[in-house]
Amino acid sequence: MKVAVLGAAGGIGQPLSLLLKNQLPAGSELALYDVAPFTPGVAVDLSHIPTNVNVEGFTGEENLQKVLTGASVVVIPAGVARKPGMDRSDLFNFNANIVKGLAEKIAEYCPEACVAIITNPVNTMVPLAAEVFRKAGCYNPKKLFGVTMLDTLRAETFWGDVTGYARGDIRIPVIGGHSGTTILPIFSQTVGYDAVSAEDIEKLTVRVQNAGTEVVNAKAGAGSATLSMAAAAARFALSLVRAISGESGVVESAYVQGGSQYAPFFAQPVLLGVDGVKDFLPLGKFSEYEEKCLNDMLDTLKKDIQLGVDFVNK
Ligand code: NAD
Repeated sequence: MKVAVLGAAGGIGQPLSLLLKNQLPAGSELALYDVAPFTPGVAVDLSHIPTNVNVEGFTGEENLQKVLTGASVVVIPAGVARKPGMDRSDLFNFNANIVKGLAEKIAEYCPEACVAIITNPVNTMVPLAAEVFRKAGCYNPKKLFGVTMLDTLRAETFWGDVTGYARGDIRIPVIGGHSGTTILPIFSQTVGYDAVSAEDIEKLTVRVQNAGTEVVNAKAGAGSATLSMAAAAARFALSLVRAISGESGVVESAYVQGGSQYAPFFAQPVLLGVDGVKDFLPLGKFSEYEEKCLNDMLDTLKKDIQLGVDFVNK
């Protein structure tokens, strides 16, 4: 199977490519692309790791055909990251044209691929890409994903810190979107919930919502989450690869279209299969607090979505 990473020379792209080089099944092909001229060098570097994953790196738009042709999975971390004082929506002006341009090439060269978008603001970039694909006549909502996995990793990690449960045993659905209050961890469905006070649940929820900013501030101008994001994206991409290859029962959360009564695009747990989303899983029961957070976020989420649709149709 061929996996393409667009934005492969960046803070997320490089460690993500490293994880994929090490963890993709033997016989896979890994195609790296970035506007950074040293991208072929990133591939040369990775090619010295003795795994049976063939890696090639390209720069220059004229090479996108080579990168994308035959790809079954395309992961996109291309774009600009946050600096202190910015929120994800501030990135829209920088990143909208980047994602639009890359989506147009995907529509041309690998319209059947599963596409996973990391670039922020995810809430807007995914509907934007959907609109590009729709216009090109190749939109399949089951094959387009916003990567919200980092919110899940953060919720699981912070829950482990508070409850003492082994982090590997914790599963927490995080629903909604991927920015501020649109990020909603559903702690009430998690092991150990009854032992945690309402006040602590609220604090943890806000911490997950602001965890990206925690990293942006700690890096003090040098970017946003890259290593944890690479781990999250690798987990998602590898799950996709396993499901596309025929493994059954692969479940992950992602920001997808369809299956939600709340908004046209919504982060939720999905069952993955050979053609992308096989099934949208039930969201289950919410606590009163979660129900309120969910209702409060919907206006913001819907506006974020509309911004992406309008950008392509302006
Ligand atoms: P970065 O600046 O380190 O890397 C971005 C890379 O994209 C650079 O190498 C750049 O050359 C490349 N690029 C720019 N335009 C391109 C184009 N047209 N085609 C191909 N490559 C192009 O940034 P980063 O830290 O890797 O973050 C990338 C994106 O991921 C940002 O938008 C950031 O906000 C987002 N992000 C998302 C999440 C999430 O949970 N979904 C988490 C962290 C960061």
